[in-house]
Amino acid sequence: MNDLNFRAPKGTRDIFWPDSARHQQLVDVFAEVVGEAGYEQVITPMFENVEVFQRLGDATDVVRKEMYDFQDKSGRHLALRPEQTASVVRAFAEHRPSTPWKAWYTGPNFRYERAQKGRFRQFSQVGVEALGTEDPHLDVEVMALAWHFYERLGLRQVKLELNSLGNKTDRVHFIEALKQHFGKYSNDLSEESKKTLEANPLRVLDSKREQDADLIASAPNMADSLSEDAKKHFLQVQEGLVVLDIPFIVNSKLVRGLDYYVRTAFEFVAESFDAAQNAVGGGGRYDGLVEDLGGPPTPGVGFAIGADRTLLACDAEGVFQESETLVEIFVVDTTGGLSALSLTNELRLAGFRVDRAWENRSMKAQMKAADKSGALVAIIVGEEELVTDTVTLRDLRQSTGQTEIKRETIIETLRKRLR
Ligand code: AMP
Repeated sequence: MNDLNFRAPKGTRDIFWPDSARHQQLVDVFAEVVGEAGYEQVITPMFENVEVFQRLGDATDVVRKEMYDFQDKSGRHLALRPEQTASVVRAFAEHRPSTPWKAWYTGPNFRYERAQKGRFRQFSQVGVEALGTEDPHLDVEVMALAWHFYERLGLRQVKLELNSLGNKTDRVHFIEALKQHFGKYSNDLSEESKKTLEANPLRVLDSKREQDADLIASAPNMADSLSEDAKKHFLQVQEGLVVLDIPFIVNSKLVRGLDYYVRTAFEFVAESFDAAQNAVGGGGRYDGLVEDLGGPPTPGVGFAIGADRTLLACDAEGVFQESETLVEIFVVDTTGGLSALSLTNELRLAGFRVDRAWENRSMKAQMKAADKSGALVAIIVGEEELVTDTVTLRDLRQSTGQTEIKRETIIETLRKRLR
């Protein structure tokens, strides 16, 4: 058997502590920020009927090339979710909670992409969806949530880019104008962009290829295709961001990977790393999507933040302190193990993080394990302590020696020392 079969599949990773703890911390901070704004958590299935995702638009790469779809044993055509907006909106359309409905989510998504730094085939997102009102201040609210989330994580070098893609009709006009522009000079476009032009002209604006740069720079401007309504909405969004002191840049070339956005589109870019994958989050308004998924006409706005990339940005900015250790107390017992069993249990129930040595090994071996654990304090039980009903406390970080204390005072003593 080829041992390559026992490696994590291409584009996936095993995340060990302390990275796993940072991942959890990111989700906790996110839950805190969106909880303050009254968003409820929604947990949707990791796979859906493939049609749910096909509603995202056949022209999007995510649907066309990257979907992990399969038939189950009853022949149903299903797909692992490539993103969560479609699932959350499907859940809304199916259950019709009262609006405005504001929900947040977290969890993995799956896309068959070219794997590289910051681009994985399984990656995690946190995000929100807010359904039921066209109020431009809701667009501002969701952007502010993302902004404050990055801020509370400790990131300082994140930039907000903003655009309006107009309403549905504006988009159609704009796409027509792009087709004409790029069509006229299509021989000068990169091979990749020629194909994109066929499938999805808007996405040509997203090309980062040098060869396309001039044609993109001279392309028509979305702002010129905006209807009065869309213009007003866009101005109100900008005004709201100014009131909240959230800096932003209007980028008229900003388009998003998914087709469903109308009016507001935005992206958060990490300036701390120059990888091609520096978009750490993005979102926008998707007023037609609920209807597309079988619900009543309901406007919506939301965003998704890439957890893996945000953590890379945190590393680049040195946001995380040196990791705490997994445990603070380590129990050493050379009398057979029963004391270790009861002491760890007692201390854990009192709220301490505690580990112990196994297999009744020698004092020396157990003390080595105590050092390796990173704990601050070792609690030692030997024959003598057993007889006198005491334990010995040893500071593992400083060589301040050790103290013997009565067993019944242990919790009180440790609270004073460690809390
Ligand atoms: P999207 O759902 O494409 O709008 O992406 C939202 C965010 O998810 C992006 O800004 C990235 O931070 C993250 N993301 C998207 N695709 C990937 C991927 N393949 N690997 C890692 N992060 C991703």
